[in-house]
Amino acid sequence: MTLLRVSQQQLNLLSTCPRKFQHTYLEQLTAPVSPEEEVRSDWGSQFHLLMQQREMGLPIDILLETDPELKQCLHEFLQAAPELFPADKSSDFSFRDPEHQRTFKFENCLLTVVYDLLIAQENLARILDWKTYPRPKNRHYLAQNWQTRLYLYSLVETSDYAPEQVSMTYWFVRPNSGEPPASITFHYSHQSHQKNREDLAELLQQLEGYLENYAQGQALPQISVTQGLCQSCQFSWRCQRTDQPKDSPAIVLNSLPDLDRIKEVSI
Ligand code: SF4
Repeated sequence: MTLLRVSQQQLNLLSTCPRKFQHTYLEQLTAPVSPEEEVRSDWGSQFHLLMQQREMGLPIDILLETDPELKQCLHEFLQAAPELFPADKSSDFSFRDPEHQRTFKFENCLLTVVYDLLIAQENLARILDWKTYPRPKNRHYLAQNWQTRLYLYSLVETSDYAPEQVSMTYWFVRPNSGEPPASITFHYSHQSHQKNREDLAELLQQLEGYLENYAQGQALPQISVTQGLCQSCQFSWRCQRTDQPKDSPAIVLNSLPDLDRIKEVSI
C-alpha cells in the first residue's frame, strides 16, 4: 500500500476548500505571484537560511553584509528574544536543532513537519517558527491553523513528552515595519491532543474518499459561495464563481512542491 505524504499546508488547504486542494496539488496549478510577493517570499527564505546557518555555527557575515535589512532584523530579533539565544552556551544543556524534521505514520498517511528550531530539555520542549509577515490579529485563527495543531501533535506522537510539556511559539519578524519582533505562544494539553487526533483522522479519511472518487473522475467538492472566499481565490474563474477579468493572471501548471522546502506562506 502506498502511503500518502501530507503536510500542514495540504491540511490547511483541504480544510479551507477541497476543490482548491485539487487544483493546487492534484492538478498542480498555480497563479503567478507578483514581483512584490516574490521579493517578500525570497526575503523570508533568506531570513530562515540566516537563522539556520547561525544556529549551526556557520558563517553568516556574507549574508548580513549583502542585506542591511537582514542585519537589522536579526539584531532586533536577538534583542527581543535573549532567552532563546543565550550568549553563554557552556551552561546551556538544551538540545537545539534548526530545520528539525519529523515524519510519522497516521492511518494511511505519512505526516511530515519541519520545525524552524526545536529546543528540547528533559521535561520541556519548545517548537519555534519564524514568520516574516504581519502578526495575525486573531489568535484563535492561528490556534486553529493546522501548522500549530500538527506541529504540536507531531512532537507528542514522536517523543516521550506529555502534551503539557510542549509549546509552540511563532516569532514575527518584518523588515521596515516599524514594529519590534513579536511572538505568540501556544501551550498544549491532553484535551487538545485528543481533539487534534480526532480531527486529523476525520480529515484524512475525507481525503482518502476524495482521492478514490477523483480517480473515478469525480471532482473534489467546492465550498459554498456564501463563505465569501471564492471572490479572492485565484481559481474563482475556473470554478465559475466569477467572470474572468481582462487582467486576470493566467493559471499555470506548477511542478510538484517539495514538502521540505515549501516557501513560507502567510496564515
Ligand atoms: S473558487 Fe471557491 S470553490 Fe473554487 S477553489 Fe476557490 S475557494 Fe474553492
